[in-house]
Amino acid sequence: MGCTKTDNPFFETYKNKYGAPPFDKIKNEHYLPAFKEGMKQQMAEVKAIADNKTAPSFDNTIAALDFSGDLLKKVSSVFFNLYSCNTNAGMEKIANEVTPLLSEHNDNIYLNSALFARVKNIFDNREQLGLNSEQIRLLEKYHRNFIRSGAALNPEQKTRLREINKELGLAQLAFGKNVLDETNSYRKIVDKVSDLAGLPESVRQAAAETAKADGKPGKWIFTTQKASFIPVLQYGQNRELRKELLMAYTTRANHDNSNDNKAVINKIMKLRTQKAQLLGFDTSAAFILDDTMAKTPKAVYDFLATVWTPSLNKAKEEAADLQKIMDAEGTGQKLEPWDWWYYTEKLRKAKYNLEEESLKPYFKLENVRQGVFDLASKLYGIKFKKLDNMPVYHPDVEVFEVDDADGSLIGVLYTDYFPRPGKRAGAWMNNITDQYIKDGVNHRPVVCNIGNFTKPTADKPSLLNMDEVETLFHEFGHSLHGLLTQCTYPSLSGTSVARDFVEFPSQFMENYCWEPQVMKTYARHYKTGELMPQEMMDKIQLASKFNQGFNMTELLSAALLDMDYHTIKDTTNFDVTSFENASMKRMGMIPEIIVRYRSTFFSHIFEGDYAAGYYSYTWAEELDRDAFQAFKETGDIYNKKVATSFRKNILERGDTDDPMKLYIKFRGAKPNPDALLKKRGLVK
Ligand SMILES: [Zn+2]
Repeated sequence: MGCTKTDNPFFETYKNKYGAPPFDKIKNEHYLPAFKEGMKQQMAEVKAIADNKTAPSFDNTIAALDFSGDLLKKVSSVFFNLYSCNTNAGMEKIANEVTPLLSEHNDNIYLNSALFARVKNIFDNREQLGLNSEQIRLLEKYHRNFIRSGAALNPEQKTRLREINKELGLAQLAFGKNVLDETNSYRKIVDKVSDLAGLPESVRQAAAETAKADGKPGKWIFTTQKASFIPVLQYGQNRELRKELLMAYTTRANHDNSNDNKAVINKIMKLRTQKAQLLGFDTSAAFILDDTMAKTPKAVYDFLATVWTPSLNKAKEEAADLQKIMDAEGTGQKLEPWDWWYYTEKLRKAKYNLEEESLKPYFKLENVRQGVFDLASKLYGIKFKKLDNMPVYHPDVEVFEVDDADGSLIGVLYTDYFPRPGKRAGAWMNNITDQYIKDGVNHRPVVCNIGNFTKPTADKPSLLNMDEVETLFHEFGHSLHGLLTQCTYPSLSGTSVARDFVEFPSQFMENYCWEPQVMKTYARHYKTGELMPQEMMDKIQLASKFNQGFNMTELLSAALLDMDYHTIKDTTNFDVTSFENASMKRMGMIPEIIVRYRSTFFSHIFEGDYAAGYYSYTWAEELDRDAFQAFKETGDIYNKKVATSFRKNILERGDTDDPMKLYIKFRGAKPNPDALLKKRGLVK
């Protein structure tokens, strides 16, 4: 049964004063008709822009494009939000049907030569048009997107690009499938209880349950899933077992069988390099980074070098400390990668004796959330008000109105914190509607924070672990970036920024969560209301510097390996193992640590979106630590003046200017890595 436009909520103007979707009225059957009509409407708008007989101008072309596709944006944002956090079989079907249609729709816009001719004309004359800096930025963004999609290529080259994209898509899928198959097929069966010495009861139980489910009751099974083998590395006394599991994990998709990824990597790198060269760049990294804050491979290498050496030096010190424990135990053994976790746990217990279970009663979810709200109020003067009558898509969802100090509306925040079937793993922030200014009206955004935090039980509220507290602060940081934005054009507003800049406002908030001053506002025992003891807060501070040489060395070696791959110029076949070994040798990697992702299972870069981008987390960390330092330097982590500057120059600006320029406006200088290195205890 088709449905008429009149009973489809996407075809109506959302009625509430926030412009939030009527989630209670949206049903699966509303999506496809709205997607199809939305694409049709946008295509008509795009055609009118491309065929316009009037000379191309910023308003009749670039702004018109940016404000086109209203209905499509409406249905896409609701659909893809719910598809990640509240999906069902019907939605899976719709996603499969609509994804290729959307990608074709996108090609039809970006490969429209009449449209590109207008964009190019405006771009070539941009200096003479009297545009403001935000308009220039939007124009450059569109021009770049057209070029990157191949709009400037000749017909044969366009055909070749489409072929490359298709082959690349398939090769990346094959890479992911091989990693998944290898991960799922591995089983280490243990039949002697003595081999489990040192393992906590919960770990034994989980391994026993896996064995039972596999038809091997009475035995224990370990896999290369992190939740299964990491506890063995940490607590298992059986050194051979530790070694076997770590080796199984680090050699996935590297066994010269049908799941081997070495040939797939060759194919992916060949195609990526060819694509970059077709589009006028000498390497894949140069092509990818052209669109980021770092801009060039050299800038990334230079940055990584400044953090690599102190990290590696610290890791060497840590290795020596661990070796001392081994020597004191009289094992006569040399520290190996499969010993690192085990002796680190011993050292952690001896040094800090920090039991995570004893902290959790102080981290009741509602208190932590109120803590970040209060923090935002202190920094930016904004206020949060719970809304009880908004339509939601699930009873776990809560809605808050966010207002400025003067009472004007900033936007709406939805929080959806607990796991359930139909929600994918992890935590994230999304826009449900974007902020923009049109016809003098400032449309305020609706954003959401999604998590999978520990659920409340019959007798206990939701009590978070440290990782979850940090995640809540992090995602809330993305929300502030999405909420406080003050931009004209929807594609520049909020979090629509470069990949190596987007984690900056979120990671910035993490700086606050373990500050004793902040903890005093939220870390109260859920039963007694008593504040967390000072001694516990101090331990949390100290423990944050522990084992950071290892963590950073593991992470940065992966970032360097990623860059080495994506700066390949030559597209002839190469041997993956020798390539990786040469890369490790060049950076001076120590044998006691294995790079976080070896090539054959480095899914971030060969399957996902982080090609030439694994450095981004650390890049953003340099920014967030240095930005927090601006507060610390005043002696007041809530300093109003610095907070206002952070709001005006970073949080409100979206992608309306070059990110480094925005940063310099806030800080008065480029970021430097000192605060990052100090915070992690890598320098004195
Ligand atoms: Zn994030």
